[in-house]
Amino acid sequence: MSKGDRILDVRNIHMRFTSKGICVRAVTDVSFPVAEGETIGIVGESGCGKTTLGRCIVRAYEPSEGSVLYTTSDGRQIDFLKIDKQTMKKYRKEIQMIFQDPYSSLDPRMTVFDIIKEPIVANYPKMPKAEIERRVMDIAARVGLNTAYLKRYPHAFSGGQRQRIGIARALVLNPRVIVCDEAVSALDVSIQAQVINLLHDLQKEFGLTYLFISHDLSVVEYISDKVGVMYLGKMVEFAPTKNLFEHPMHPYTESLLSAVPIADPTVQNQRIPLEGEIPNPANPPSGCFFHTRCRYCTGQCTREAPAYVELEPEHYVACHRAQELTLRGFTYEE
Ligand code: SF4
Repeated sequence: MSKGDRILDVRNIHMRFTSKGICVRAVTDVSFPVAEGETIGIVGESGCGKTTLGRCIVRAYEPSEGSVLYTTSDGRQIDFLKIDKQTMKKYRKEIQMIFQDPYSSLDPRMTVFDIIKEPIVANYPKMPKAEIERRVMDIAARVGLNTAYLKRYPHAFSGGQRQRIGIARALVLNPRVIVCDEAVSALDVSIQAQVINLLHDLQKEFGLTYLFISHDLSVVEYISDKVGVMYLGKMVEFAPTKNLFEHPMHPYTESLLSAVPIADPTVQNQRIPLEGEIPNPANPPSGCFFHTRCRYCTGQCTREAPAYVELEPEHYVACHRAQELTLRGFTYEE
C-alpha cells in the first residue's frame, strides 16, 4: 500500500443503545472513506455521536449495523467489525485509540514504564525483556518523555506529559491507524499546540492515519485533510478541509463556523446562533434531524429526511436546500 490508498472504508454504521425499553440512536448510517496517511477530523457539538463513532470503528463498541473495511498491511481487505477473536487479536494492534482524558485513562497504580509496556506484553508474551525495555525506552523518548522518570507514577506528570504517555502507549505496537478522541481538549492551549505538533511529526515519521475527533473547529482545521460534521448521530457534511471551511454547504456547518473566532480584530464575525437544544436522540425530530434549529427549514424538511449526496467532487451533504443556499451565499430571507 502507498500513501493515498484507501485504508479504511466506514460504511453505514448504526449504533443503538437500548435501556428499559428506550432505544437511543447514537449513530445513524454514517459512511466515509479514509486514505492512508491522511487525517480525518470529526466535529460536532457534545452528544452528536462522534465519540461513539470512534469507539465503533476501533470496536470498543459493537455497532448495531455497518462495516469498517480495513486494508491490512499485507494488502488484504477485512471487515474489522466481523472478524473473529483470533483474527482480531492479529489486527487489533494496527488500529489504536488515544483517549480524551489523560488523567483517567492511565492506571494510577502502574508506573509509566509498565503502562507503556502493557500492550507489548499482551500482544507478544514471548518477547525478551531486553527487547521490551528497548521498545518502551525508544517510544518514550520519541514522544518527548524523559526516560529517567519512567519508574514514576502518572500523578507525578503534568497533563501534557500524561497525554504523551497515552500517545506512547498507543504507538508502542506500531499501529497504522489511530483514533484520537478529543486528544487535546483537556490541555492548556500552549500544551495543546505542543501535542498537536507532536502528532503531526509522528504522522510524518511513521506514516500514520488519524481519525481526529474534536469539538474544536480551529484544531480540526489545522490538523485535518478532510472533515466530517456530525449532528444528532448523522454525518451531515463531509469534505476536504479547505472546501468545508471556505465553502460550507450545510446550514449546521455554516452556524458552527460562524462561532470560530477570527484572529483579526478588523474583521467582524457574523455569528449565526444555534437556537434551542440538541433534540433527544431517543426521540429525534421527523424529517431532517436539524429542522428544529434550522433557520432555512421548509415544510419538506419537517417531513422528509434529506439524502446524503455528493454535490461536488468529494463534498457530501445531507440537506434538501444545500445547492440553492450555497448558490445564494446562505443569505437569510425571513
Ligand atoms: Fe435545514 Fe432543511 Fe437543510 Fe435540514 S434539510 S438543514 S432543515 S434546510
